[in-house]
Amino acid sequence: MKFLMFGAPMAGKGTLANMLSEDYGLPTISMGDILRNSIANGDEEGVKAKEYMDKGEMVPDEVVCAMIKRRLAAEDVEEGFILDGFPRTPSQLKVFVDQNITDIDVVVSLEVPYEALLSRVVGRRTCKKCGYIYNTSWNLGYESCPKCGGEWGIRSDDNEETYKNRYNVYQNETLPILDYFKKEGKVVTVYGADEPEQSYENLLEALENSNIEGLKEFLDN
Ligand SMILES: [Zn+2]
Repeated sequence: MKFLMFGAPMAGKGTLANMLSEDYGLPTISMGDILRNSIANGDEEGVKAKEYMDKGEMVPDEVVCAMIKRRLAAEDVEEGFILDGFPRTPSQLKVFVDQNITDIDVVVSLEVPYEALLSRVVGRRTCKKCGYIYNTSWNLGYESCPKCGGEWGIRSDDNEETYKNRYNVYQNETLPILDYFKKEGKVVTVYGADEPEQSYENLLEALENSNIEGLKEFLDN
């Protein structure tokens, strides 16, 4: 089964992808990780991507798609995968479809109201000593890091202004992609505003109740 995680920034795509990956043994593929690794390895696409990023420009779709193509050709994803962070724009989707890079079976669309997303953003705390990430919206009352006692730090970009911009980019450039997959009958909508464990339960329930071909067999195995 080939999964695509879809949703706004901070909707919990990565967290739920990891939970699904642990339970069903599929590797997760994060576009952000691919980009970072490719640049660190200095491969052909990585060198190109870095040139654009150093100039503060968007990495062209062809380069991004070439990276994805290379990753999807690896042996560990033959049985399926959980993709997160790609495609991000209609033009990336077009290259993805035109080049016939792969067929996605299921698109998990996480629905989280804007207010809930925002409270995750402004509530994010990172331990200054060990990097543990906590969120005040979990209401656990930690005044300091429960792992090491370290002081909480707040990332400078975790504010409403910055998030609003990211959210607008998502709404204008990424959200339209969902229509394509809806027409293909591949979208499973999941309510993702609960805590991670409950959102994951919502996800499994939505998958169980969908009639996407092959999904029931996959979940039962
Ligand atoms: Zn800590």
